[in-house]
Amino acid sequence: MRHLIGQDMGKHLIGGNPPIEVLLKKSGRAKRLSLRLSRLNGSVTLTIPSHVPVAQGLAFAEEKADWLRQHLANAPSSMPVALGALLPIEGRMLRLQQAESGRSPQIQGDCLLVPRGGAGLAARLQGFLKVLARERLIAASDHYAARLGRGYQRLSLRDTRSRWGSCTADAGLMYSWRLIMAPPDVLRYVAAHEVAHLQEMNHSPAFWALVQQLYGDYRTPRGWLRQHGAGLHSYRFVD
Ligand SMILES: [Zn+2]
Repeated sequence: MRHLIGQDMGKHLIGGNPPIEVLLKKSGRAKRLSLRLSRLNGSVTLTIPSHVPVAQGLAFAEEKADWLRQHLANAPSSMPVALGALLPIEGRMLRLQQAESGRSPQIQGDCLLVPRGGAGLAARLQGFLKVLARERLIAASDHYAARLGRGYQRLSLRDTRSRWGSCTADAGLMYSWRLIMAPPDVLRYVAAHEVAHLQEMNHSPAFWALVQQLYGDYRTPRGWLRQHGAGLHSYRFVD
């Protein structure tokens, strides 16, 4: 008896944040469309029975995008940061590629070129993101603090899953460096939010009015964080 193995049909990219790469397989044995999520490496495989058109299979996968994203986010650290992979920076999806020269990572078009170096690729990329995050978060915090007319004592970066930022009673601001992966408006909103806590140490209507006054209409970035924020934690910076 001939053993039928699913035929590899390449990859399909489901847009959104994070985008999801789906491996396509045509199978003579499969009775129905199926999506499989590997616990091991977070890869997603769509098996399409040979009698089902590929377009119908892709539509099925697109319909399940939210479900996939949720499961990928819950599976901790499911997206290894490596050459060839996609990584969002300031809301743009960039493909990681080896740079031929240079000392630090550089954005060129839709690619992030990473030079060879002593430490591992993921460690160097994490360092690069933290430097960029600090720069943008200082600029945004300074901007809103000046607007508020109150200074802050210090600014630190963490990698916390539970919150995107915090503000201590002695005016210390803390942010997740992963905010650098989100669209710039989202990073600015979080900065305005924490700076507003310098004056209002609560989430009262007065606090939200202050955020509105500092940032403007914050519904879109706040909604973005609720919907896509968890996805930013799925990138694994381990060599
Ligand atoms: Zn808050």
